[in-house]
Amino acid sequence: IDREEPNYFGAGPALLPTSVLQQAGKDLINYDNLGIGAGEISHRSKAGVGIIEQTKASLKELLSIPDTHEVFFLQGGGTTGFSSIVTNLTAAHVKKHHKAGTPYYVIDGTWSKKSYEEAERLGFDPKVIVNTKEIDGKFGTIPPTEKWNIPEDLSDVSFVYYCDNETVNGVEFRTFPFDKFPGVEIAADMSSNFLSKPVDVSKYGLIFAGAQKNVGVSGISIYIIKKSLLEQAPAEELRKLGLQVTPIAFDYPTVVKNNSAYNTIPTFTVHIVNLVLKDLIAKGGLEAQEKENIAKSDLLYSTLDKYPAIYKLPVEKSVRSRMNIVFTIEGSGLEDKFLKEAEQSKLEGLKGHRSVGGMRASLYNAVTLKSTKLLCELIEKFAKEHQ
Ligand code: PLP
Repeated sequence: IDREEPNYFGAGPALLPTSVLQQAGKDLINYDNLGIGAGEISHRSKAGVGIIEQTKASLKELLSIPDTHEVFFLQGGGTTGFSSIVTNLTAAHVKKHHKAGTPYYVIDGTWSKKSYEEAERLGFDPKVIVNTKEIDGKFGTIPPTEKWNIPEDLSDVSFVYYCDNETVNGVEFRTFPFDKFPGVEIAADMSSNFLSKPVDVSKYGLIFAGAQKNVGVSGISIYIIKKSLLEQAPAEELRKLGLQVTPIAFDYPTVVKNNSAYNTIPTFTVHIVNLVLKDLIAKGGLEAQEKENIAKSDLLYSTLDKYPAIYKLPVEKSVRSRMNIVFTIEGSGLEDKFLKEAEQSKLEGLKGHRSVGGMRASLYNAVTLKSTKLLCELIEKFAKEHQ
């Protein structure tokens, strides 16, 4: 099985290394010489459990996950996390304090806003620490924490939620921003920058990521949770407090107790994740990957910055995403023309998210420096012709 090496900048589902997919293709038909494929074996068989165990082990190795934390997989994507995080982490807070507490949200773009709205919809009365759109009208900035609305009494905070990389808006946190929240559990959506850089897992209560960007294909999400957050109040206590109980398939303690196979986990999808993880380990781990991601995004940003008359970048330099580079092109009809020329050069997936328009080049782990250079060549050529 083969393909011409794609130059694909789509935001998700996104590009995966061809060699990984070639192996996955073989394993879909005949996994580990069993005579049947990884999507056909039982999730409770030796081979099925082996896939889950190996994937967890690879992840623990790559991210140096401490013993205080547990890894598990859930069906569904990022949106599944929006509802399951608020129900599970509230249940953990109730277990400890016998009251609901209040979830707090940093709204730094489209996806954290959706997550906040889901908490509201489920009746949790979440509060906003900062909504960056209220500052610049476009989610293009992250103010210093001195300007955040941090509650004085942190004991009532059930957790703080934020999105580490906002895929639609192209904003990314450069550093861990919650040093002013001692003792508070931090929940991070890392769907679009997971495994793009090393992360100190010990600082988080929970990290989650839909697999379909840097880690695999759609259908599964990855969770890393502090083990103490698996201690949760029983359904009766939650009901008495008028709180939404977590549906069983998304109940983290139940999923962990059953080693991610309480119900039928998509074993083949988990296996693809493991192949991606092994590939990352073989290529030198997350430090090496981060270096490459910095080189790619620096090159693209510096090329765009050379032509400020034609390319506009809505995000402040200090918080520009290394994964999703968003820009607009000044001039009537020029964005369509750019996309057409890109397609002619076999540079695909550059149209911005439908909610914001413009262009978006996603430089996930599997996008090569070579592809990035080809895109930069087009950006240079187009600017010289049109500015
Ligand atoms: N969180 C982030 C950062 C995302 O980029 C996305 C989707 O692109 C989501 C959540 C939602 O993911 P899903 O479509 O898998 O529900």
